[in-house]
Amino acid sequence: MGNSVIKIAVAKKGFGAYIHQVLDFEIKRIEICGRMLVPATPVKVDLKYCYDGDAINADGEISVSFYESCARCNKEFVMPFSYSFSEKFYSENYKGDEFPHDFAIEDEESFIYSGETLDLYDFVYTTIVLNVPLHSLCNEDCTSLAQNEQEQCEEEAAPNSLKAKLTEALRKQN
Ligand SMILES: [Zn+2]
Repeated sequence: MGNSVIKIAVAKKGFGAYIHQVLDFEIKRIEICGRMLVPATPVKVDLKYCYDGDAINADGEISVSFYESCARCNKEFVMPFSYSFSEKFYSENYKGDEFPHDFAIEDEESFIYSGETLDLYDFVYTTIVLNVPLHSLCNEDCTSLAQNEQEQCEEEAAPNSLKAKLTEALRKQN
């Protein structure tokens, strides 16, 4: 859903001139090592990009919100996330030497496009996975039911434990 694609031909025509574009698309869920993050909003990418003869140079800011549980009080809240990036995207046909990698081997480290469009979905997904905080708090001052991370992990691993049930009962009362 939405648009995560930029058109290479337009960037090439404007050679060296930055194009401003706002991408808006949906990511249904993001999985990070078994942790499931569900976006509460579409992903927005405020982007400017240009073609420099070798690559698409893109600078932008990713913004999205996730449904998240507070690492301390376990309350559910909506966590805003934003991340600024600066990245080069190379055509799979690129033969220059600026980027001294063999794409066939290194392609997991490089962002490659083929054809006349560049879909930023995978790049944005990966960037979120790599940069989203491991734990977040409903607000910076949250101190209620302070738990250490160890307890938090055990509780998540054993949803039927007595402690988890107590926490759940307490939460319902509030
Ligand atoms: Zn909290």
